[in-house]
Amino acid sequence: MRTRQAYIDAPGGPEAIRWREVELPAPGPGQALLRHEAIGLNFIDTYHRSGLYPLAMPATLGLEAAGVVEAIGDGVEGVAAGDRVATFGPSRAAYADAQIVSAAELFAVPADIDLRTAAAVLLKGLTTEMLAERVAPLAEGQWALVHAAAGGVGQLLVQWLVARGVRVIATAGSEGKCDLARSLGAEHAVDAGATDLAEQVRAITEGRGVRASYDGVGKATWEASLKATGRRGIIASFGNASGPVTGVNLGSLASAGSLFVSRPTLFDYYREPAERAEGAAKLWDMLGSGKVKVEIGQTYPLDQAEQAHRDLEARKTVGSTLLLP
Ligand code: NDP
Repeated sequence: MRTRQAYIDAPGGPEAIRWREVELPAPGPGQALLRHEAIGLNFIDTYHRSGLYPLAMPATLGLEAAGVVEAIGDGVEGVAAGDRVATFGPSRAAYADAQIVSAAELFAVPADIDLRTAAAVLLKGLTTEMLAERVAPLAEGQWALVHAAAGGVGQLLVQWLVARGVRVIATAGSEGKCDLARSLGAEHAVDAGATDLAEQVRAITEGRGVRASYDGVGKATWEASLKATGRRGIIASFGNASGPVTGVNLGSLASAGSLFVSRPTLFDYYREPAERAEGAAKLWDMLGSGKVKVEIGQTYPLDQAEQAHRDLEARKTVGSTLLLP
């Protein structure tokens, strides 16, 4: 099968994304040929493109896609031609019409979930499951701070926490995004640019601070997360949308109230087949029950991935973004 495929020769801005046509080989042992119906855009794609997460060059791009299996190689079990599936990598050639992927990376998509929804939610929804259920699980009635709450992961995380009975304070970059976060169940939404963000969170929580801060923004929000998190609470620092958090003095965790910090990545929490199956079942359940809904905020033709990167990095997107072949 012939496919368009995005790649970079060298790290750079969105203009570094190039396109080529390649003929995909037949799937080898353990592999499947996946024809994409939709591709999920993720902030990590920009780290791969910019060089924040270094790759050997030239490098293909894109972790997340949903589609239909066209063919399988020898020894593949549990996946067959015609199956509706989705992947979040770690293979990284999803910006394409089709790809050869290890069959072990595929998740079956339940019949009641369409493939666009699957591409919009798999990586971000499993990240949400990892954060809310395993990295920093909270009890009913405890307070959480969720940064970038109108974004891809943020929207899902607000809803997931609310479904667990957690009380959510959101941050977002505009009044419209704050309204969106409230409509998803956040009790309060604070402008991400507020210089007294942590003080506002302390006031809302009667001085105690939140039990957990979920921070995918990174550099710009680290200090606020530190000040807003209550004694013996946890900061789940899971991303770098504004740049990476570096040079943290461990003593600052002591003076902030004996805090815990985790810097998790999805791939470490979705390694074993049993935990992959269990985590995905929880996600499909949350979607099926209607407790968590995914907003596809914008779509772009596949060949406009460059513009999609520009908009994501300029904070112009809400919810999930799809590239469509
Ligand atoms: P989002 O849709 O959340 O987009 C990022 C958002 O971050 C923006 O919309 C913006 O929201 C906010 N933001 C604040 N400051 C900046 C800035 N300087 N530049 C750009 N954005 C900024 O992206 P995703 O849902 O794809 O990812 C969210 C985060 O989760 C990312 O950091 C990503 O790397 C991380 N992630 C981590 C995973 C892991 O395994 N650790 C897995 C998946 C995602 P606003 O304008 O409202 O402030």
